[in-house]
Amino acid sequence: MVQSSILGFPRMGVNRDLKKATEAYWGGKLSQAELLEEGKRLRLAHWKIQKDAGIDSIPSNDFSFYDHVLDHIQFFGAVPERYTQHKLDPIDEFFAMGRGHQKEGVDVPSLEMVKWFDSNYHYVKPALSDNQSFLLVSDPKPVREFLEAKEAGIVTRPVLVGPVSFLHLAKADRGSSVDPISLLEKLLPVYEQLLVKLKEAGAEYVQIDEPVLVLDLPQKTKDAFKLAYEKIASLGSSIPKVVFATYFGDIVHNIDVVKSIKGIYALHVDLVRNPEQLDTVLGAIHPEQSLSAGVVDGRNIWKTNLKKAIETVETAIQKLGKERVIVASSSSLLHTPHTLASEKGLDAEIKDWFSFATEKATEVAVIAKAVTEGPAAVRDVLEANAKSVQARATSKRTNNPEVKERLSKITEAMANRKSAFPTRIAAQQKNLNLPEFPTTTIGSFPQTKEIRVQRNKFTKGEITAEEYDKFIEKEIQDVIQIQDELGLDVYVHGEPERNDMVQYFGERLDGYVFTTHAWVQSYGSRCVRPPIIVGDISRPAPMTVKESKYAVSISKKPMKGMLTGPITCLRWSYPRDDIHQSIQAQQLALALRDEVLDLEAAGVHVIQVDEPALREGLPLRSGKEREDYLKWAVQSFRLSTAGVADFTQIHSHFCYSEFQDFFHAIAALDADVLSIENSKSDAKLLKVFIDEAYPRHIGPGVYDIHSPRVPSEQEIKDRVEEMLQYLKPKQLWINPDCGLKTRQWKETKAALTNLVNAAKFYRSKY
Ligand code: GLN
Ligand code: ZN
Repeated sequence: MVQSSILGFPRMGVNRDLKKATEAYWGGKLSQAELLEEGKRLRLAHWKIQKDAGIDSIPSNDFSFYDHVLDHIQFFGAVPERYTQHKLDPIDEFFAMGRGHQKEGVDVPSLEMVKWFDSNYHYVKPALSDNQSFLLVSDPKPVREFLEAKEAGIVTRPVLVGPVSFLHLAKADRGSSVDPISLLEKLLPVYEQLLVKLKEAGAEYVQIDEPVLVLDLPQKTKDAFKLAYEKIASLGSSIPKVVFATYFGDIVHNIDVVKSIKGIYALHVDLVRNPEQLDTVLGAIHPEQSLSAGVVDGRNIWKTNLKKAIETVETAIQKLGKERVIVASSSSLLHTPHTLASEKGLDAEIKDWFSFATEKATEVAVIAKAVTEGPAAVRDVLEANAKSVQARATSKRTNNPEVKERLSKITEAMANRKSAFPTRIAAQQKNLNLPEFPTTTIGSFPQTKEIRVQRNKFTKGEITAEEYDKFIEKEIQDVIQIQDELGLDVYVHGEPERNDMVQYFGERLDGYVFTTHAWVQSYGSRCVRPPIIVGDISRPAPMTVKESKYAVSISKKPMKGMLTGPITCLRWSYPRDDIHQSIQAQQLALALRDEVLDLEAAGVHVIQVDEPALREGLPLRSGKEREDYLKWAVQSFRLSTAGVADFTQIHSHFCYSEFQDFFHAIAALDADVLSIENSKSDAKLLKVFIDEAYPRHIGPGVYDIHSPRVPSEQEIKDRVEEMLQYLKPKQLWINPDCGLKTRQWKETKAALTNLVNAAKFYRSKY
């Protein structure tokens, strides 16, 4: 009676099959027909998993060869002319928008890609023009895939991005100034046509995702909801029943909008992220509407506490009755790995705490069964689940009394440097003796094939630890010699020993575990495999001191130690859900603090703590939650770095320079030097540094490291000239945008030669 549903399933397949197929197709090794066939195979496999799990409402159109927003751009006929003019096959036009197309005389760059809310998934941003029109393509994907499933005996619930979210997430294309939301009335007819077609094809329900409802919205967007859903409601029984889905936040602040939306069959809310919104939502829901209760986490990998989830669903049932409640995943399961069954190497105790997409589908079905038939119907499952939950809560692997003890002793003073910046910089100058316009790099140097080969051999046990260490030392010697030749001022050791900037640290910290197959889509065919924080974090031994100390011992110039900051470690991992993220950040911060002090003691007097993920952790809405986040994020950075003496210089690095909305937090880090990615942005972004009278040093990147192109000395000088409009000569460092690990040596040397020469030019000028 109580229905179960999943909002979306991961697309990659058990062995990243989709990645392999699309990349093979791009590389000309797979035909178009083979690619399409593989997509079909994956969709069927994923529907079947959910059916076998006992899910009633199984999504379709959640699959995509690249990105689901991009699918909508194409089937709504919102493809910019620079793509359509080439008359490519639809699938090639689709990939051209996703990743650019440079073949057979066609040369178009990709559309912009941005983060999907606060997840690590990226969507393709619709780019709409002043005279934008929309036209439903003749064989729209949602209908095609619905029929495909139906043929296989599975009646699915197609998923669409809603009209308001589609427009709110869009932008005006270059050369246009249209406000996307103003296009609503033009867009609605294609939704209408699509919904009618879905109904004709046999769809009883459709899921319309409107996640933007969790954001702070301008009035015109709120009004757009009313307009759009009045129109949709007016279509009555000529379209499927609408499940209106929100996720990644609460909708309490937009509850008036929710109340104004009539004619929808059910409202879905995320009760994992915001369980407290349940009361308000129950109070706002119309008498004819159902509630889809998102109680199984679509964003993390923990086993659901079934007892708690059932209680939440029961609360809703008490108010609405069984017929009006649906049990669901909190969001699409896109953000979770495919199946736990692939993890052969995980410790059994810990594996019992996890649940990936396939296992989560079963959880949703079990909860629905428990509330329909009573808990006795699933007693064994509930008992086993309670045991796992209890075991995790009390395990030695999650609880480390020493860490707790240390956390309780953190004081304000520990987060403050000994002196203010003017005193520090004077001490650092004496210690480091750097020229004006000092030059440096961001940490990594090219990760050559040889480095990967040796690392692989070492992991597989084909070479000994000593042989591997020798190899790494030799790499360090080489990059130091190259930096000597280039004439850089602050050296790095090049990070040859690091596979990944978070995994490397995770592997050296207690409290982390790693998977072998738990990949999730980041964008297009790109997947990441985040490490998992399972318990209290501590540092059993120094993590980077050996390499940095060696580098110092053979270097004539100051050597910069290189660490990944607490927020980046946290954000690029699956965090625990049993303690607040601020506590996890503090634990990471204390471990890093010890590392910073060990580096200092080893003679490393410039230390960079990278925090590229600081910004993406910003809560979606402004206000208290965001301010709280910034407070603990800044505090944890300071806790990691503030223990050093005045003469030690703390650097931090960010892969962006849009600091406008949280500049106070960047300033509050109190880093002596910030290096930021800036070469492709407008130098005007640096204006905030003068406006706010920022007193410390800054190295805005002078060239783009994502491209093999070598910037000329003149280009770099021009860039520096622009920067000097906003920054004082004494503040300015000269460095690339980011680490150089994806580059080749040839272009790296050429670019850095020009960079050093540009710095020398300014030194002689000022
Ligand atoms: N130190 C890192 C590197 O150079 C920084 C990488 C990053 O900012 N993403 O590779
Ligand atoms: Zn970077």
